[in-house]
Amino acid sequence: MKSFCVVGAGFSGAILARHLAERGYKVTVVDERPHIGGNCHTERDAETGVMVHKYGPHIFHTADERAWEYVQRFGKFQPYVNRVKAISKERVYTLPVNLLTINQFFGTTMGPKDARAFIESKADRSIQAPRSFEEQALSMIGPELYRAFFHGYTRKQWGLEPTELPASILKRLPLRFNYDDNYFNHPYQGMPEDGYTSIVQNILAVDGIDLRLGCSFESLEEQYDHVFYTGPIDRYFQFRLGRLGYRTLDFERFVDDGDHQARLLSTIAMKLCRLPVFPSISILHRGSRRNSLKQCASVNIVVSPVSRIFRIIPSAW
Ligand SMILES: Cc1cc2nc3c(=O)[nH]c(=O)nc-3n(C[C@H](O)[C@H](O)[C@H](O)COP(=O)(O)OP(=O)(O)OC[C@H]3O[C@@H](n4cnc5c(N)ncnc54)[C@H](O)[C@@H]3O)c2cc1C
Repeated sequence: MKSFCVVGAGFSGAILARHLAERGYKVTVVDERPHIGGNCHTERDAETGVMVHKYGPHIFHTADERAWEYVQRFGKFQPYVNRVKAISKERVYTLPVNLLTINQFFGTTMGPKDARAFIESKADRSIQAPRSFEEQALSMIGPELYRAFFHGYTRKQWGLEPTELPASILKRLPLRFNYDDNYFNHPYQGMPEDGYTSIVQNILAVDGIDLRLGCSFESLEEQYDHVFYTGPIDRYFQFRLGRLGYRTLDFERFVDDGDHQARLLSTIAMKLCRLPVFPSISILHRGSRRNSLKQCASVNIVVSPVSRIFRIIPSAW
């Protein structure tokens, strides 16, 4: 019988391993981290009871009904809709840019048709063949919305000036001419009640899987007939073919009391003005274990008596 090694105990590795094991194969799963779950790993903070998304906040969202049904076999999901707020020039707006954002930003009361025509009239028609992200955006929506909602965010996301990024990144700007402020277009969204790691643990809970944590693929001495490698592809080739550029994040943890919603927004505004990097801030809140996620259902900034805050700061490539 063929022997299999799956490198990585995140969602990809766990699902691959389960399906192989269910077909009767022996599968070795290795992950160099001391835990399963990959970048979706979650752990309950002992001090505050907060469910921490260790490598950044994760929202499960998909348009694939099969994927949605599949994942629910391994854990209970609470309804969650991601509603994002942004500050521009001392005012709070909803994202992605929608009819409310447009009307609030320009001080208008336009309907969908007029708003569409208005935004088209803002587009810079002198740019015929956009050469950068910035030119592409300006040719689609004009300078005001671009400066307010895309320029800073793009710098944060990529760590590069929008003038240095290729136009191809921006095939379509997320712009809505209705009042839908649901960040994702996907019909299925949720937040796992017991975190993602519990789901991955349940996926891996099948006979035939030999899980080895704290174990790198490179350190394995055994030979396998087939390896599924879910790590960085440049590393798989021991960087012989070069190195890919990766965006990384640093997390700064602190625990504090009080209502952080207002502070959160003013902090973002302040940092947007003054810092060369643009922090995102996630508040992961405490509450009773059961109802805490329900509170998350309608907004992504949640207020609670005790909050644990991470500033997520994009760091070097
Ligand atoms: C900040 C952030 C926010 C995100 N938010 C969302 C979100 O809201 N919704 C969403 O759907 N997706 C989100 N994602 C993407 C999501 O994290 C990934 O799609 C998902 O984790 C991919 O799972 P994976 O199993 O393929 O890989 P990973 O989760 O990266 O797991 C790969 C595992 O392989 C291990 N590994 C790699 N190389 C080796 C090696 N040589 N030897 C041993 N082990 C190795 C690693 O330690 C890691 O645990 C986000 C990602 C980040 C970084």
